[in-house]
Amino acid sequence: MHRDTDDPLQSPVQYLKSVGPRRAEDLATAGLRTVEDLLLSLPRRYEDRARLTPIGSLRLDERTAVTGEILSCGLRSTRRRGFRIVELVIQDDSGTVRATFLNQSFLKDVFTPHAHVVLFGKIERRRAGGLQLTNPDYELLPAADDDGEEGLIHTGRIVPVYEKLGNLTPKLRRRVAYGALQRLPDDVPEPLPDEIRRRLELPTRAVAFRDAHFPPTGCSVEALNAFRTPAQRRLVFEEFFFFQLGLALRRREAATITKPRTIRVDDRIRRAALAVLPFRLTSDQRQALKDIVSDLQRPHPMNRLLQGDVGSGKTIVALLAALVAMENQLQVAVMSPTEILAEQHYLTLTRLLAPSRFDAVLLTGTMPAAERRMASAHLESGAAQLVVGTHALVQEAVRFKTLGLVIIDEQHRFGVMQRATLRSKGHEPDVLVMTATPIPRTLALTAYGDLESSEIRELPPGRQAVRTTVRPDGERAETYALIERELDGGRQAYVVCPLVEESAKSDLSAATDMAEHLGRKVFSGRRVALLHGRMKRAERDGIMHDFAAGHIDVLVATTVIEVGIDVPNATVMLVDHAERFGLAQLHQLRGRVGRGPAQAHCVLMYHAPLSDQARARLDALASTDDGFEVAERDLELRGPGDFFGTRQSGLPVFRVGDVIRDHRVMDDARRAAFAWLDGGAGADVDLRAVRDGWAVRYGLVGVG
Ligand code: ADP
Ligand code: MG
Repeated sequence: MHRDTDDPLQSPVQYLKSVGPRRAEDLATAGLRTVEDLLLSLPRRYEDRARLTPIGSLRLDERTAVTGEILSCGLRSTRRRGFRIVELVIQDDSGTVRATFLNQSFLKDVFTPHAHVVLFGKIERRRAGGLQLTNPDYELLPAADDDGEEGLIHTGRIVPVYEKLGNLTPKLRRRVAYGALQRLPDDVPEPLPDEIRRRLELPTRAVAFRDAHFPPTGCSVEALNAFRTPAQRRLVFEEFFFFQLGLALRRREAATITKPRTIRVDDRIRRAALAVLPFRLTSDQRQALKDIVSDLQRPHPMNRLLQGDVGSGKTIVALLAALVAMENQLQVAVMSPTEILAEQHYLTLTRLLAPSRFDAVLLTGTMPAAERRMASAHLESGAAQLVVGTHALVQEAVRFKTLGLVIIDEQHRFGVMQRATLRSKGHEPDVLVMTATPIPRTLALTAYGDLESSEIRELPPGRQAVRTTVRPDGERAETYALIERELDGGRQAYVVCPLVEESAKSDLSAATDMAEHLGRKVFSGRRVALLHGRMKRAERDGIMHDFAAGHIDVLVATTVIEVGIDVPNATVMLVDHAERFGLAQLHQLRGRVGRGPAQAHCVLMYHAPLSDQARARLDALASTDDGFEVAERDLELRGPGDFFGTRQSGLPVFRVGDVIRDHRVMDDARRAAFAWLDGGAGADVDLRAVRDGWAVRYGLVGVG
């Protein structure tokens, strides 16, 4: 937060000893411009190279360090033209060992006989017999008469291993980081409040930088690799603390904004709401609605998250909230992540709104321009009270007469960053975010930490758990027989076709072939239709409409049906090549069935060979229906860094911390930041600077 010009951390990397203009450019390309950038880019892992093994005791396949005197060094050509090998032989008291370096001819001048060297690498067997190291990390030891040069940095200690970034090799990065630390004073500015640092026993920033990059001897390599040492924790904490402080400030600011309108709820409005209600709300739905309506009546804009698993009934709650706004002469925008979902919402909402006096319009990119203009005109004049559309369109293309409520159906593609841009519409709308991704609690605090939250845990009455089975491709006939039985009982089925990663085109042809095959051979006499994302909207609408009306028996689809589609009479979901889908995605697909009172089935059909990972994924799904459990399992199986694509999830991207690996630190940081602010802190810190720094860092520039 200190941005003094004489702050050593803000000094550009090119002033470092080992960095010339070319390297400075490489570093800049990798986003490392200042010493601080460099030091916040922590090693990916650590290797214990402290233990030196005597050459005589080397064992095959071991990764270890050896040291010795150079006996000989020579260049050898191979049969492959232009391919050259440097061969090095070193000796200690217990024996000799050979090392070979492929295509690094310059090394023949680096290794001079009688010099001492440390090598680190994996011990392999030579074809000619004996042991060798191939492309080991190496470091020349200073000559005995050299007066006290710097210590070893690549070997003979616990060594940091950095990620290769463009031209920047791990070894080069190690040298540069070392150089930066050498020049680092002990009193680098301390951004964390002293009181918090002491209470949590966190080391100072300077110590943390040193120990996190070049751990002191005796440090546990396991702890380092788990990112649990005090130095690492301190740096992660610092980052999370300011992130959470930013969230806390946003919350606090939201409470100072006043809406340019008041919303009231009276008996007339309650009657209007009852008139559209097709069923009794569950108690979770009722509670969520109560939370929302009470927010709407407050003078400050609502910022609320409505969390609930697929099929838990979020739509009706959102619609009732919309109705309250519309009865108060306000307009409502419903934003969806995909076109097909927007269309689906539009159909559902217009159906539900039929008994009311309100009109809805649809706004998507594939609509003819004239229709789009018409929809916009209706919104601008106030003739339409509700718009359903894709995020981008609603955000960019629409002027409202009196926008009062924004409902974001995000299905985990939309997060704290993007949400913020809504406020720039100038109406200070109430915002309701709906998500069907039951994300683990700590992640929720990161992605949605600036929101109040309501949760629908209970499913609508009469629902039975979907019966999920994992079957090999060989059991296709039995599976089709199951579908046949359901169709006989008047039910409907989905068949979702393999996702082919290379091209959307092959997706399509697989689905097309499947639809043909099923229609002609398997379910002849039934109505089989195909649905995919490249169809014209009118055609897609027609098919969705026919399926919803029961005029189609089997709907063959690509993953376009993943989200939002709601046809309670459909009781079978067959996912072909289920091994190619992610766990969260499969859970979404399964959520398309089991929406009515009848027993539903989900068949996850796989094609051999099935990897252990894929098997674990499918089994996990078969063993639970609970989205929260699925999310936790997903985390375990895929591990940090791979959680449904961080960017897509709307989770902020951190430099040091990892929201999954370091989730406990996130909890600590959140508590500390909120408590610190509530305790009237801030006198000794420039909160504006925190806020601005945060905004720049997390992409919230210019947003209230
Ligand atoms: P989601 O939370 O996934 O958006 P939906 O809002 O689409 O779920 O609801 C799933 C299905 O459950 C819909 O068919 C909806 O009409 C039905 N539903 C929702 N709430 C209730 C309820 N309280 N009683 C009966 N059916 C309900
Ligand atoms: Mg929904």
